[in-house]
Amino acid sequence: MSISKNITELQKELQPIGVTLVAISKTKPNEDILEAYGAGQRIFGENQVQDLVEKYESLPKDIEWHLVGHLQTNKVKYIAPFISLIHSVDSLKVLAEINKHALKNNRIIDCLLQIYIADEDTKFGLDFAEAVELLRSEEYQGLKNVRIRGLMGIASNTENEKIIKEEFYELKMLFDGIKTTYFRKEESFDILSMGMSSDYKIAIEQGSNMVRLGSTIFGQRIIKHYKAK
Ligand SMILES: *Cc1c(COP(=O)(O)O)cnc(C)c1O
Repeated sequence: MSISKNITELQKELQPIGVTLVAISKTKPNEDILEAYGAGQRIFGENQVQDLVEKYESLPKDIEWHLVGHLQTNKVKYIAPFISLIHSVDSLKVLAEINKHALKNNRIIDCLLQIYIADEDTKFGLDFAEAVELLRSEEYQGLKNVRIRGLMGIASNTENEKIIKEEFYELKMLFDGIKTTYFRKEESFDILSMGMSSDYKIAIEQGSNMVRLGSTIFGQRIIKHYKAK
C-alpha cells in the first residue's frame, strides 16, 4: 500500500469515531510527508527537536507539528514559535520553560502530560502521584502561557495484549479523574493521546482519542544513528 492510500484508509477508520490521527514522520524524508499531505493529512509528529525544526522550515505552513519525544529545557526555544502540541511534558521544570518561551512568542502553547504507564525503565514520564503534584503546585497555577490539553502514554512493548489493555485502562482512569478534579470547568482538557502502530486498536477501545502512527503509514523505519555534534 502507498502512503496516500494508508492515510485515506486510516482516516476512513478514525474520523467517524472522533479519533485524531497524528502521522509520526520521524526519520522519514519530506517526499513521504508531502505524499501524506497530498492525501489530506495535516497533523505530523516528530520526536527530535532538530528534525522538527528542519521539517517545519521546509514544508507547507498549514501543517500542525506535534512533538512526541523527550524535550530538554535548552531546546524549547527552537520550537516555541510554531509548535501546535507538545505530547511529552514530563516535569514542572520543562513546563515552566515552555511557558517562558511561549510568553516571549506571545502564544499559549498546548501541552500534554506524559504519564509513565509501561512496565519498563527506559520510558520518560510522570507517575500518577507526580502528575497530581504538578497540577496542585502553585508554580503550575502561575503558568499562564501553557495550556494542558490532556495526557499521553506509551504502553509496554510486549505481545501480551492483556498488559497493554490494562496500561491504557489505567491511563484512561487517571485522565477521567484528573479531568473531574482539576479541569472540571475547562472543556479544553480533552485529549488522551495513546496508541501507536502495534497497539492503537486496543488504545481506542480503552478510550483514546488521539493515536500516533508511524510505521502503519510510512512503513518500517530504518534505525538512524545520531552522531554526537
Ligand atoms: C515513534 C513513535 C510513535 C510511532 O511509532 P509506530 O510504532 O511507528 O507507529 C508514536 N509515539 C511516539 C512517542 C514515538 O516515538
